Amino acid sequence: MRTVGHFIGGKHVKGSSGRFADVYQPMTGDVQAQVALGTKAELRAAVENAKAAQPAWAATNPQRRARVFMKFLELVARDNDEMAELLAREHGKTFPDAKGDILRGVEVVEFALGVPHLMKGEYTEGAGPGIDLYSIRQPLGVVAGITPFNFPAMIPMWQFAPAIACGNAFILKPSERDPGVPMKLAELMLEAGLPPGILNVVNGDKEVVDAILDDQDISAVGFVGSSSIAQYIYERAAATGKRAQCFGGAKNHMIVMPDADMDQAVDALVGAGYGAAGERCMAVSVAVPVGKTTADRLMEKLVPRVENLKIGPSMDPSADFGPLVTKAALERVKNYVEIGVKEGATLAVDGRGFKMQGYENGFYMGGCLFDNVTKDMRIYKEEIFGPVLSVVRAHDFDEALRLPSEHEYGNGVAIFTRDGDSAREFAAKVNVGMVGINVPIPVPVAYFSFGGWKRSGFGDLNQYGTDSVRFYTKTKTVTARWPSGVKEGADFAMPTS
Ligand code: NAD
Repeated sequence: MRTVGHFIGGKHVKGSSGRFADVYQPMTGDVQAQVALGTKAELRAAVENAKAAQPAWAATNPQRRARVFMKFLELVARDNDEMAELLAREHGKTFPDAKGDILRGVEVVEFALGVPHLMKGEYTEGAGPGIDLYSIRQPLGVVAGITPFNFPAMIPMWQFAPAIACGNAFILKPSERDPGVPMKLAELMLEAGLPPGILNVVNGDKEVVDAILDDQDISAVGFVGSSSIAQYIYERAAATGKRAQCFGGAKNHMIVMPDADMDQAVDALVGAGYGAAGERCMAVSVAVPVGKTTADRLMEKLVPRVENLKIGPSMDPSADFGPLVTKAALERVKNYVEIGVKEGATLAVDGRGFKMQGYENGFYMGGCLFDNVTKDMRIYKEEIFGPVLSVVRAHDFDEALRLPSEHEYGNGVAIFTRDGDSAREFAAKVNVGMVGINVPIPVPVAYFSFGGWKRSGFGDLNQYGTDSVRFYTKTKTVTARWPSGVKEGADFAMPTS
C-alpha cells in the first residue's frame, strides 16, 4: 500500500512514530494509502532545516524568488491532470472540480509573482531637517500553515506562495485525510528550483499541530479548518507570541429577493449548495427567499432540481458531485438530517437513501432539501458541511438582512435581485466578510483577499492579496540623517517635526 511520509529539507522522510492514518478513496470506500503521523522531533527537524535555509533565500533578490514560482507554474500545468486525479481520488470531489481546486491556488501563485513590487517599501524625503524616512518589509523567518481536507491544493498554495515569495521558509501541515497533493506540490517546488528546506511538509495530527504552536522558532501560523480548532490555534499561537490568522467554518446564506431571476437563483443554489457535496467553506447552506410568493416559487423550481442531481464517482464526467470525504463525514451529515426532521423542519427532498450502483461501499448520499427551517434549529445554527440546503423563509428585506448578520459565522453571503438599491444596501449593511451580488460563491480573485468575519475568521489580516504580504512580512522603519544635517548640541526634549 502507498505510504505518505514527510518532506523535510528537500527529502522524503518515512516517519518514525509508528502511527499512521488511513487515507480513503471515498468513491469506493477502500483505504488507498496510509499517512505517517509526525512527531515533535520530526517537526523540529523541519524547523532546523527551514531555519538553516531561510537567510540565503531571504537574501535572494525578489525577482529571482519569483522566477522559481514561474517555473513551478509550468510544472503544475505539466502535471495538472495527474494531480487533479489524485486529488479527486483522495477527496471525492469530481475531476473538473479538482481542476478548479488547483487553478484557484495557481491564481494566488500568479499573484505572488509580483513580489518585487508587492514588497516595496515607502520613502519620504525631508521628513525633518535633513531627515529622510523609509520603511522596508522583511520576511518573518520560519512560518507554518495548517490546512483542511476540502481544498488540498488551493489552500496550501494560498499560504505557501505569498509566504515563500516574501522570503520566508514554510512548514506545511496538511490534512491527514488527503495528503497526496500537498506532497506533490512540495516536490514540484523543489523541481522548480526552490532550495531544500524552504518548503517542508510534516504530516500528522494534533501532536504535530501542538508542536508547531509551541515552537519558539516559528513566527507565524496560518490555519484553515473548523472554527473550534481555529480558535484554539489562534489562542495557543498567541501565547507563544506568534502572528496568527485562523479561518473557520461557515453558514453562508443566499437571499432571494422577489424580483430575482428565479431560474438564475435556482441554478446558483444547486451549484453552490451541492457542488463538491457541500464540502466547501463558501457553499451556500441557507437559502432565504423573501416573502411567501417568492418562497413558494423557489421551492417549486428547486425541489425537482435537487431530486435530479447526478451523484457519481469522482472520475465520472457527468457527475454533479461525488461522495463525501469519509464514512464519518457521511454519518455526521446524515445525523444532521435526522436532527432537522426531529426539530420539525420539512424535509422536502431526502437523499439519505441514495446508493451508487457498483460503488456500494463509497461514501455517497443524495442532495437533501429542508423547507421551513427556523433560527432556533441546530440545522440552521451549526455547519453541516454536506449536500444539505436549508430554506429559511423571511417576511421582508430587513429580516433577510438580519439572518446572516446575526449568525455566529460570517464567511460569505449572497443576494439575488435585479434592484441595485437593495443590493447596495445589503452589501453595505450585512455583517459578513464576503458578499456576492447575483454571485453565489463570492471567493475574491487573487489580487483581492479572502477572509470571513465573526467565528469564520480569527485575526486581522485576510488570506492572499496584499493582506498576505503584510501577514508574512514585518515592517521596519528607518529614520536617517547624514552628518551635514546634524545641528550642534544635545537635544533633551522629545523630537518633534
Ligand atoms: P478540521 O478543523 O477538522 O482540520 C483542519 C486542520 O486542523 C487539519 O490539518 C487537522 O489535522 C487539524 N486538526 C484537526 N483537529 C485538531 C485538533 N484537535 N488539534 C489540532 N489540530 C487539529 O477541518 P476539516 O474537516 O479538515 O475542514 C473542514 C472545515 O474547514 C469546515 O469547517 C470548513 O468550513 C472549514 N474551511 C474554512 C475555510 C475558510 O477559509 N474559512 C476554507 C476551507 C475550509
